[in-house]
Amino acid sequence: MLIKKIQQLIGNTPLIDLQINIPKQSHIYAKLEMFNPGGSIKDRLGQYMIQDGIDKGKINATTTIIEPTAGNTGIGVALATQEHHLPTILVVPEKFSYEKQTLMKALGAKLINTSSEDGIKGAIKKAREIAAKTPNSYVPMQFENPANPAAYYHTLAPELIQDLDQPIDAFVAGAGSGGTFAGITQYLKEQNPATQSIVVEPEGSILNGGPEHPHKTEGIGVEFIPPFFKNVQIDQTLTISDADAFKYVRQMAAQQGLFIGSSSGAALAASLKVAEQLPENSTIVTVFPDSSERYMSENIYQKPQN
Ligand code: PMP
Repeated sequence: MLIKKIQQLIGNTPLIDLQINIPKQSHIYAKLEMFNPGGSIKDRLGQYMIQDGIDKGKINATTTIIEPTAGNTGIGVALATQEHHLPTILVVPEKFSYEKQTLMKALGAKLINTSSEDGIKGAIKKAREIAAKTPNSYVPMQFENPANPAAYYHTLAPELIQDLDQPIDAFVAGAGSGGTFAGITQYLKEQNPATQSIVVEPEGSILNGGPEHPHKTEGIGVEFIPPFFKNVQIDQTLTISDADAFKYVRQMAAQQGLFIGSSSGAALAASLKVAEQLPENSTIVTVFPDSSERYMSENIYQKPQN
C-alpha cells in the first residue's frame, strides 16, 4: 500500500472474532481501534471535528485550536491539525497517562495541565478561559459537538455492518464523552431496531447512580450525563470494576496476543456479561478503543496487590 500521509490510514480498522470461551456459544466481535495511526479510536474524531470546523467556516488557515481532553482525543486532534498546519493547545488533567501526554507534545501541540482533582470539568473550564483570551481560536469541544457522534455514525458504524454477514444482537461500548456509544447506537438501531445497546462504565462513574470516585480504568466514566445520550436509547448500563477490566487486559495479552487498554478490558468484561444474558449463538459487537502500550508507565500488566 502506497500512501502520501499517515492520516490516510485513519479508519477501516480490523474487526476481530474473539476466540475465547464465550457463554452460550455466542460470538464477541471487537473493533481494534489501536490500528489507527495515532493509536486510538479518537483519530476518527480529531479528523472529523477539524474537517467539520473547516467546512463550517469556523477554522481558517491561522486559527488556534484549543481542546480539553483525557488524551486520546488530543492525539487525534493534533494529528488532524498538523495536517492543516494549525497551532494547537490541548488541556489535559494531570492524571492521564504520561505516554498520551508525550505523544500530544511530539505531534507539536502545546499542553496545559489542569489538576487531577478538578477532573475533565476542570479541563473544560480552562480550555474555555484560554479560548476567551486567544483571538481567532476555535474549541471543537468533543463533549458537546454533534460532530462527535456523527464521526462514528458515518465511519465506524457502517464498517461494522460491512464486516458482518449476520444481524447484530447487542452493541457494547464504554462512554467518556459518549460520542462513540451514541453515534454507533443510532446507526445500528436504524439498521436493525432489535439491536440492543449496552453502555459500559467503571465503578465511580455516575451513569448507574453510584457515588462518584476515582477509578483506574482510563478513558471511560462520566462526571456528567453526556448531552449525546438525550436522543439515544440505552438498553442497559453495566458497571465494571477496575479489577475486572484489568483482569481482561492481562488475559488478552497472555492468551490472544492483544495489547488492549483498560477501557477495552471493561468493554470485554461487559460483553461477556451480555453473552450470559442473551440466547445461544448471539452476535455481540464491541469496541476496543486503544492499546495498553500507552499505559506502560502505569504498570497496566501488574497484578493488583491485596
Ligand atoms: N476508551 C478510551 C481509551 C478513550 O480515550 C475514550 C475517550 N475518552 C473512550 C474509551 C470513550 O470514548 P467516547 O469519548 O466516545 O465516549
